[in-house]
Amino acid sequence: MSRTAFLTALPKAELHVHLEGSITPEIAMQLARRNGLALPGGDARGLREAYAFRSFRDFLRLYICVSRCLVEVADARDVVVDLARRHARMGVRYAEVTFTPLTHRARGISAEVLWAGLAEGRDEAQRMHGVTYRWVFDVVRSMPQQAEATVDFAIGMDARDLGSVAGVGVGGPEADHYPMEAIGRAFDRARAHGFASLPHAGENAGAASIWTAVRRLGADRIGHGVRALEDPALLQHLRDHGVALEVCPSSNVALGVAPSLLEHPLPALMAHRVPVTLASDDPPMFGTDLIAEYERCIDAFGWDEETVRAVVRAGIEHSFAPPALRDEMLAELSEPSSSPPPSRARA
Ligand SMILES: [Zn+2]
Repeated sequence: MSRTAFLTALPKAELHVHLEGSITPEIAMQLARRNGLALPGGDARGLREAYAFRSFRDFLRLYICVSRCLVEVADARDVVVDLARRHARMGVRYAEVTFTPLTHRARGISAEVLWAGLAEGRDEAQRMHGVTYRWVFDVVRSMPQQAEATVDFAIGMDARDLGSVAGVGVGGPEADHYPMEAIGRAFDRARAHGFASLPHAGENAGAASIWTAVRRLGADRIGHGVRALEDPALLQHLRDHGVALEVCPSSNVALGVAPSLLEHPLPALMAHRVPVTLASDDPPMFGTDLIAEYERCIDAFGWDEETVRAVVRAGIEHSFAPPALRDEMLAELSEPSSSPPPSRARA
């Protein structure tokens, strides 16, 4: 069994992947064509070049242009089903998929269209590909005025498709000057409704942003959180309270959060016994997917089979997967495998 086959066979949960950021150039072209929209690069080849962006500004521009391709119910549905097709091929059984509803609401797409597209997509993802999805609806940090409407959107989605919402999040630019109070109040309401708190923090901003996510937003997990390393008290808090970090190494390298994979803080976080899960964030935009993230970590950090299994297990344990699915995945993961341990690729 090859290393890729070994990784694929493990029952995996992916806990940090953005629906808009999961759109491949091929799907983006398809949606743009049927909605009469222009994309950066003009044609398929040009668009693929735009996916190899070189700066954060280019990344944002691409992300916004690709997001605009979601217009009709069928667009959101097709994007979800295409992600599920790729997830199924990688042996991902369950994912918490982040979506930013207010970006689309602000350009005039109705909540009804988005709810219907997501519900149809989730249903087909399960039926056609056997992948279970739950949503994380996130607020853009610099738009705190959208926080309450994001929670309303989540409550509306849950009413339409019961149990489909895992939690609420906050993403976008991290800086200390964005006031968190309005977002905090919205999160209080979301948590009272039974949604998990799944904010991004500690990606560009320092450890203080993670403390805010923990203390004010009641974070159940942290998106990225790699800058937790700066504060020993925070590392201890995350470890003692089982607050897992959703670590996305290729994303961090692509956006300059870590200078290179070899210099990534993931091994140090693991040495401090902070719970970590591995995820791909915006996979086609960062030239990655969940299997590639595992392979790159095995190569860069020399992970053995036990380490790989521990990271896969953490992804399941720290997920908000339905209990029956969670138990099934954990049981399957405990079965001994006949495969050789993963080894570093030969140079
Ligand atoms: Zn993210």
